[in-house]
Amino acid sequence: MHHQKLLTLLRRVLETPTAPFHEYHMAATIRELLEPLPHVTITEDKFGNLIACYRRGRKSPRLAFAAHLDHPGWVKNVKDPENGAPEFLGGVPADRLGKCPVKWFGDFGMWDLPAFELTKDGLIRSRACDDLIGCVEIVALFHELERREAEATCYGLFTRAEEVGFVGAVHLAKSWPLPKDVRFVSLETSAPRGGAEMGKGPVVRVGDRMSVFDDAVTAELLDAATAEKIEVQRALLDGGSCEATATQLYGIPSAAMSVILGNYHNCTPDGGIDVEFVSLADVKALIKLITATVIRMAEGGRKDSAKAAMKKRLEERVRSHQIYDRAARKHWKNSNL
Ligand SMILES: [Zn+2]
Repeated sequence: MHHQKLLTLLRRVLETPTAPFHEYHMAATIRELLEPLPHVTITEDKFGNLIACYRRGRKSPRLAFAAHLDHPGWVKNVKDPENGAPEFLGGVPADRLGKCPVKWFGDFGMWDLPAFELTKDGLIRSRACDDLIGCVEIVALFHELERREAEATCYGLFTRAEEVGFVGAVHLAKSWPLPKDVRFVSLETSAPRGGAEMGKGPVVRVGDRMSVFDDAVTAELLDAATAEKIEVQRALLDGGSCEATATQLYGIPSAAMSVILGNYHNCTPDGGIDVEFVSLADVKALIKLITATVIRMAEGGRKDSAKAAMKKRLEERVRSHQIYDRAARKHWKNSNL
């Protein structure tokens, strides 16, 4: 994707305020950014999760990429709106909550920190990388499929209220609105774990803290990376659980990718609150990879998969060692052991 275009998408999404259950501004921004794309349609489920679909030609859909629209933040006290203190929703330790001023957007507030900055050394710094970066990646995927006139069908799911326990993803999984064999692929930003490092490419997640992910989709992502020469990291990011664990609990085989995140949930190593950050190069590589994966899977039946090559090697080994096996069996038989 063109550098300037991606920066425009990043700016539009990251500058949109959000908090758990207060994703209406973000949903409007996503709709606006997808609106110009002639092959993309958007619907909503009963809970307000957005379901976008790119469809060109008659190829069956295989993947649904998912990102959540919220970020840990403040909400007005709903139990005692007159006198109650604001409440914080999302996973941030209580002793940090007084460490940064809050900016209010009507009924919800975010840390009063820059919404979007790009540093000279290629870092995106924002009050809410998690998971608005994932949302941008899906929007960018759809723009790329459109630009390339790709003959493919794929979904983008933008979920609500992930930060309080995958609420949107659970609603979606319970009334799964997509064809049965479509796989869910969570796109997240995650703290570095399992040897993965920022700037070394997006991470194809083996699993998270709770579960392991769908082997077939994981293999498709890795094969696409090899074919397109995209540097990726394959790792178990077990710093937390992601929506792929939630959807798998409801029977939907799921996979996941992440870009490595600094200052996870705005928590700095020295106990404060500050912007989160990710590498722009990692984000670009992830967009390239998911675009390539959708196109490869739509074309179907690739013979260059790593698993197919491995099986072929195994078959050859079995065949080429038959001579040793026969000789040994003969010896066995003759020696009356
Ligand atoms: Zn989070």
